[in-house]
Amino acid sequence: MNEKKQHFDVAVIGSGPGGYPAAIKAAQNGKSVALIEAKDAGGTCLNRGCIPSKTLIASAEVLHKIQEAEQFGIVVGSVEFDYSKMVDRKDSVVTKIRTSLEGLLASNKITMLRGFGKLTSPRTIKIMGKDNIEITADKIIIATGSEPRNIPAFPFDYKKIHDSTSLLELRTLPKRLAIVGGGVIGCEFASLYAILGVEVTILEMMPRIIPMEAESVSTALAKAFQKKGIRIETNAVVEGIDTSGKGVKVKLAGGKTVEADIALVAVGRKLNTSDIGLDKAGIAPLDNGMIPVNDRMETQTPGIYAIGDIASKWWLAHVATHQGLVAANNATGHPMRMNYNAVPSVIFTSPEVATVGMSLEQALEKRYRATVGAFPFQALGKSQAALQTDGFAQIVLDKTTGQVLGAQVVGHEASTLIAEMAIVIANELTVECITETIHAHPTIAEAWMEAAFVGEDAPLHWPPKRQNK
Ligand code: NAD
Repeated sequence: MNEKKQHFDVAVIGSGPGGYPAAIKAAQNGKSVALIEAKDAGGTCLNRGCIPSKTLIASAEVLHKIQEAEQFGIVVGSVEFDYSKMVDRKDSVVTKIRTSLEGLLASNKITMLRGFGKLTSPRTIKIMGKDNIEITADKIIIATGSEPRNIPAFPFDYKKIHDSTSLLELRTLPKRLAIVGGGVIGCEFASLYAILGVEVTILEMMPRIIPMEAESVSTALAKAFQKKGIRIETNAVVEGIDTSGKGVKVKLAGGKTVEADIALVAVGRKLNTSDIGLDKAGIAPLDNGMIPVNDRMETQTPGIYAIGDIASKWWLAHVATHQGLVAANNATGHPMRMNYNAVPSVIFTSPEVATVGMSLEQALEKRYRATVGAFPFQALGKSQAALQTDGFAQIVLDKTTGQVLGAQVVGHEASTLIAEMAIVIANELTVECITETIHAHPTIAEAWMEAAFVGEDAPLHWPPKRQNK
């Protein structure tokens, strides 16, 4: 065994969208940095999550566009697709980005250590794997992320019962897919697979899909899904999956069963904090595995920081990145605090869903005199031109001050549109700031300006509210 001991100013465990930006920031701040990774650089987001799924979704969108071509006056013959080629493209996009990332890390003079990192004291980490080494570090940033949650009653067998990772690796499509969990992952795969012609059934135990979002948003997505032929069963608690036959038989509480060829189980994720030696570093995780941190992302052990899924309720790559920058700056003498007031969140379904700040329900719960200004895409010239008329944008505002508290958008380009509202909310701007900003015409971003006018009770391209409303 190659036993060496090296010292670094900062060591980061985990190279996902939290860990690698933390490593870059610490290196930029003039520190020697080790980045420890057991699998591939880039973590779940790049290798098993955001990037591969969005690459497949992009292929599906092209297919969908071609299928709609006739409505644009374009005649195409019969359209076919080769799913294994879509998978090849996904793999090559991931490999390309990973290669660039490795180059980026090397150009920042970050030492990449390959293996599983385990804390052995508040200042030492043992790395087991390709590199077998124990290192010391003045500051440590833990960014070990999460993995799909296995349910003992119907564990993943990766043949008929899949998690999101193994589903992304399939090279052929099933005819029928049952999805347990109508959350973010369940809905993204439902949308992707339905476009590719798979018969999809979503089984969600709550009364609506994406139950964590505003009701109007869930309803709009459910309607769009039903239009595409996706079956949705709500209040459906999955208790077991029988794999003894040809396909799967998903058993629901109450006795009903749903048949499919394979099942995807997407019921949340498990935090990777149980075997990384937290006890040796004086850190006690919560029952769910989460590591408590302060607003500088520092744990109860001074000098050790935790970021990403393991350190907050926001399990989003971009939150992890921001936390990584905050932790790395604090660890290198540049004080910075984390603020979660304006966290944009996107669900890459068709139509896309994007939200930031509070929903109307949340604002009312917090006792704001809240109201909503909503504007449908069908009233936008650009939406009509592009044949993207489904969906709406809405702004939640405080009637007393006019401050924008939240925004939700369901529809074309929602993922890009939400950036404007993230700036509005992060900077505590009012609806007036939006109506007084000239929005380019014809664009879908005009929906925000129109929604703001509606919120001010002065709609421009929408009939005035009736008295009794
Ligand atoms: P989730 O928490 O979003 O959804 C899980 C769903 O499963 C919930 O709606 C829950 O009610 C349901 N459920 C749980 N047990 C069930 C049962 N026995 N029967 C039926 N339904 C059941 O979890 P996820 O979709 O697995 O995603 C995991 C995390 O990853 C989330 O925090 C998500 O935000 C994040 N993620 C984000 C993105 C994105 O930002 N685009 C993409 C993928 C994942």
